[in-house]
Amino acid sequence: MTDRLYYHDSFLYNFDAEVRSVIETPRPAVILDRTAFYPTSGSQIHDTGSLISADAKHRVTEVADTEDGHIVHYLEAPLKDVKPGTRIRGEIDPARRRDHMQQHSAQHVLSAAFVRLFNMPTVSFHMADDYCSIDLDTPSLTKDQIESAERLANEVIIENRIVDIRFVTRAEAETLGLRKLPPTERDQLRLIDIHDFDLTACGGTHVSTTGHIGAILLRKSEKVRHGYRVEFVAGQRAVATARRDFSTLTETTALFSTQLYDVPQQARKSLDEIRSLRKQLEQSQDELASAQAATLIAETPETNGRKLIVRTFSDPHSGRDLNFLKLLAQKITRQSTAIALLAADSPQPALVFAQSAGQPHDMGKLLKETLAKLGGRGGGSKDLAQGGAPTAEGLTAALTAAAQSLTA
Ligand SMILES: [Zn+2]
Repeated sequence: MTDRLYYHDSFLYNFDAEVRSVIETPRPAVILDRTAFYPTSGSQIHDTGSLISADAKHRVTEVADTEDGHIVHYLEAPLKDVKPGTRIRGEIDPARRRDHMQQHSAQHVLSAAFVRLFNMPTVSFHMADDYCSIDLDTPSLTKDQIESAERLANEVIIENRIVDIRFVTRAEAETLGLRKLPPTERDQLRLIDIHDFDLTACGGTHVSTTGHIGAILLRKSEKVRHGYRVEFVAGQRAVATARRDFSTLTETTALFSTQLYDVPQQARKSLDEIRSLRKQLEQSQDELASAQAATLIAETPETNGRKLIVRTFSDPHSGRDLNFLKLLAQKITRQSTAIALLAADSPQPALVFAQSAGQPHDMGKLLKETLAKLGGRGGGSKDLAQGGAPTAEGLTAALTAAAQSLTA
């Protein structure tokens, strides 16, 4: 078994060790007699760093536990100059380790705060590269509860309480009222003791006083299958996240030409305006379609007991999109006995074919045939069909051909 130096000292960043075995496939790796590198386990992600031999420095990219208690250091490139027995020096990336200690200790403080305030136990902890989350076993979680837990957790940080590592037997642990007792069969348990606040079994790396955590910022909370998930960031991550939030808000503030805390009010006002303008636009479009339908009906002579209205709209600023064409076609075919073959070449080339109820043609079929020539797609019923073409090229000619097929 590898001697886990981090069990006793989370601040040990450099150490000497002896190579036990060298692995070449599937990935180059090495096992040492002792290590301060933390392997991915118990929700905490692994350290990175370097292993230094007499001749070279080797980058450690991943660290993992084996089932038989060894720790495997995966390397960027194969080791050429070492074999079992070679002395080697290990160096852990301090910034990454410090970040992991801050997040993991923050999790203990936060989980204890939720238990103390609301009796909500943490059922799982997830550590990612940019944020962490805990899952709370609770049927409900309010904004006030989140803020209270965040406040208590930060008070515990400001009080700079001692964080001790203790080893006890399982029988002893059962008498200590731990927040969480792991289901393992091991006789010895490692406890993380946040003075007078939290005592729990854990194998992770932790700060030595809560002040090292810096700060905890709670973020998103969401309902999950067995309770609530709460995302949080601690230490430098909290500062980096608050900085990013502030930049985003500042950018939004400039867009609305307002003050930082007035952004929601301004956004709401703008949305209300958009909704009201959209309604006005719909009404104007309806009026415009009615007027245009009346004009087209009036200027088109009747042949064979119905009017055949064929029109392509080309003005890109007229707002005559597919929806408008549909509205216009419906009005034409309801206000008179007619067939309407309409197209617009912008914003997107669009076609709408419609006939009044009782007319004998099949608009869906006719549209499909017309679009086949244009390379477009669409369809519809016997009386109303719509579709789009990839370009406006040939649109008017295709419309004319469709009209001719109806009179042939
Ligand atoms: Zn832990």
